[in-house]
Amino acid sequence: MGTREERIGKNEALFREVNERIREITTYDEDAEFLCECGDATCTEAIHMTLGEYEGLRADPTHFAVIAGHELPDVEQVILQNDRFAVVEKGIGDATKVALETDPRS
Ligand SMILES: [Zn+2]
Repeated sequence: MGTREERIGKNEALFREVNERIREITTYDEDAEFLCECGDATCTEAIHMTLGEYEGLRADPTHFAVIAGHELPDVEQVILQNDRFAVVEKGIGDATKVALETDPRS
């Protein structure tokens, strides 16, 4: 068992991994459908974003895209919000460690 933060971090990392696969097979730019990258393992919400938005998100390994309301204020901070999704940044802690260790682009 890890800490709650570790579990959250692992769930987010897993969703990011799935989204990286979606990114690989997505060839159209508008309205690509990704998964919400929140810490809830049972979440199946879709997030619509352009590939440009997705690439911007992935440029920082501590950033994750979530549906508005799925952010966890005690372990992450909302740094961007629009009508489709919010981008959260992991603070210092176990979830950040997991986010960095599992960065698919490092
Ligand atoms: Zn979610």
